This record gives sequence, C-alpha cells and structure tokens, in this order.
Amino acid sequence: MAPRRRRRKRSAPVASPGALTPTVSGPSIDALGFLSLESNVPGLSQVILQKLNMKSYEEYKAVVNGGTPGSGFGIRSLSDMFQRLEDTFQFCARCRVLPDQLPDCQLLRRCKRCRNVYYCGPECQKADWPAHKKVCGELRLVAIDRLLEWLMVTGDLSLPSGPWPWPPEAVQDWDTWFSMWGTQLDTMLESVLGSHAMSTLWDSVGRPRPDPDSLRGSLRRLLSDTLSQPLTLGLGLRTLVGSTGKPGGITVHVVGASHVEAFLTSHRAYDELRHMFPGYAGLHIVMVGVDLAVESLPQLSSVLPSASGTIQLSSYQGLYHDFWEEQIETGRAVWPDLVAGFHPGFHASQDLMAGWLPTLLLLRDYEIPTIFTVYSQQELTASLQILRKLETGIIAYGDNPFTSLKPEQAYTNPNKQPVYCSAYYIMFRGTAHHLDGEEAVGKTNHRM
Ligand SMILES: [Zn+2]
Ligand SMILES: [Zn+2]
Repeated sequence: MAPRRRRRKRSAPVASPGALTPTVSGPSIDALGFLSLESNVPGLSQVILQKLNMKSYEEYKAVVNGGTPGSGFGIRSLSDMFQRLEDTFQFCARCRVLPDQLPDCQLLRRCKRCRNVYYCGPECQKADWPAHKKVCGELRLVAIDRLLEWLMVTGDLSLPSGPWPWPPEAVQDWDTWFSMWGTQLDTMLESVLGSHAMSTLWDSVGRPRPDPDSLRGSLRRLLSDTLSQPLTLGLGLRTLVGSTGKPGGITVHVVGASHVEAFLTSHRAYDELRHMFPGYAGLHIVMVGVDLAVESLPQLSSVLPSASGTIQLSSYQGLYHDFWEEQIETGRAVWPDLVAGFHPGFHASQDLMAGWLPTLLLLRDYEIPTIFTVYSQQELTASLQILRKLETGIIAYGDNPFTSLKPEQAYTNPNKQPVYCSAYYIMFRGTAHHLDGEEAVGKTNHRM
C-alpha cells in the first residue's frame, strides 16, 4: 500500500509444466527506489514498513508481488487501511520532520486545498507556499485518484467492454477514445458515482467527498492510466508493424517490465488491443524483467501459437539479453514483431545505462521495431541523445496520444512538478544509416 504501488487482487499462480528456470542478475531497481526514500525523508521507509506491519523490504516486496505477509497485515477495517495509507504521506513538506519527531501533542497539519501535503506548523506552510502553489491544484487531483484507485482493486470501476463501436483508425488519442465510448461510458461512470462502494469509500477516509465532477474526472484519469500501456503498444504496432494480420499472430516483448507493470496487466486492459487490431490473428505479449513477480503472470514456457483473435500474456524473469540468448537464439520463443519499454530509465544513471546497453545494442543490431516511453520532456531529450549516440535509427518521437492522464506525485518531494506515465514516446529501428528512405515516416508529432 505504499505510494505508487498498486495492489491488485492476487491471481492464482498458473502452473506451467516445463517452465524455464529464470536467470536473475543485475540490480533490483525497485529495491533501490524503496531505499532512496531514506535520502529524501530520513526514517520514512521505516514508517511505511511499520504502518503496514512489515519487518523488511523483502516482506514488503513479497506482499506487493501478491504474497502473504509473514506477520499479517493486521489491518482491522477499511478506515484503518486508508488511515495507514495516509500516514505514509505524513511528513512536513518543508522541513521533512516526521510526526514522531515532533514535540508532544503537536500534530502535522494538512494543506486544506489539496489535502495531500503536510506541515509541522504555520511557519513551514507559509515558507513553502511559493513553491507549493505551483503544484497544489494537481496534487489535489492526485489525492482523489489515490483513494478512488481502491474501486479498481475492488472491481467496482471496470473498463468498457466489447468491440470498439468506431473503426479503429478513427481512434487516435484519448479524446477520440472517450468520444467513441460516449454515453455508454457516461452511464457506467454515473453508476460508479452512485454505488455503495463509493459511499463506503468516502465514509472511511476521513475527508469530505469531492463534488461529482471531480470524481468523474478522477475515474476517467484512472481508466486512462489502466489502458495507457496497452494503447501505447497499439501506437507502436500501428506505426512500426502495420495493421495486416500475420499468420500465427503478432508477438510483443515488454522489456524491463517490473512487477508493478505485471500487476497492472489485466487481460481486460489488453483486450483493447484486440479491438484496436481486429485483423490480427492473435497477440502474444511477453513481459521480460529482472524484477518481475514470478507468480503474477504465467511464465513463458514452450510457446504455442496464439489462437486466432486471442491475447496471450506471459512473463520471463531475467535480463532481456539473457532472455534473447536463451529463448530467441535457440528458437524456443518466436522473434518479436515489436519491443516496448515503459520508462526504461537508461538516461538516469551510469549503472542503469550499463544494464540496458546490451539490450539497446541487440535491438539496434537485429533491427527490432522498438517503442520506449518516458515521463518528461527532459527525459525525452536525454534518452534521444543516448539513442543518437548509439546511432539507432530514430523513426518518431513526441507527445504520446495515449499517455496516462493521471498525475504522479514525487512521493518524498511533493513540490516537484507531477509527471505522467508514458507522457512521451520514442520509436526506433535498426541503425541510423538504414533509414534514409524512411525518414519521412516519423517526426510528425514532436514538439522539440
Ligand atoms: Zn516543517
Ligand atoms: Zn496544497
């Protein structure tokens, strides 16, 4: 229940006979992320573990991966759970003091506008306002989204279902996607607003229920967040693979997938891809990552061709270049039609770049059509620079029309401008000099 880790109902582990023993090596990015909390707000990682009744990061991770905590959650009620979640956000946004470091009887006070950040007192709040006012409005949305996400966990907010009512080529971005579902979606959202689950939620969270428009907006953002990754894969398939059905179906590899991605992966969300490409004979999506929960998806075993018109999801725990050597080069798994990476982060540090380099070179040299996404313009610029240095043939980059619309707060640094998952994309294939005739395809959507 820590921030930006979303719990999903545990799906039953799928036993796959002859499942391959995964190769695991390299740094665990999630562990690094968790421990880096400490450098910003000393003591906070301990607060999270304590509030969740867990003893170590390993136990926390086991739970996020869908396991049962050794010590038991010990959560007594829905309000208890929401209170514990809120407690993990309690530190002074200005001086970083934690509640138990305050003198007796002094409490942190919450910003009344966003109900998201806390202060040890009026001095810190006043001093912080010039910085906080730039993000207070967006953080208000974040605080609502965080609570309404619970409705996705309980299944009270679900995705529109069935074939697309519009021809797929008419749906190029969120505006057209929402228009396509039109009244059907409005009716669905109204019923969520009037649901028992919604009332119970606001009875349990210790803050007033926002107005209906704020709630509708939040539900839409959550839908976009759930569907952003599948539809971004669709954008990659449209641009780099095309809409012709290939016998045996299409294979997509998601590289550097974390357990968060695997958790968010639901067949329902990926069904949207089936409707986006009704001509495909089948889609097989393989998540490959060091940090991938073994239990959250069926492991890639001896892959059978996808049955016509179906989506198949599977996982492989390990580094992509090891996966390639073990699975692709031996012919055990089929060559990918598209490779996608959500927030690979190779621009961020030497260590991450060292981990990614063999994969980037492999994708380039085998001329695999590839789409990566990043959070910000700054990351886009830095990532493009690296890919150009590696002489990859960049085909297109720019604003992702299927970005998540849900703002993400920098947890330990709440006044940092919120970012949006997969806000920008980069597509490349092969090396730069192979592209002379193809230049015209891309760069239609960049704003640099
Ligand atoms: Zn303070
Ligand atoms: Zn505020």
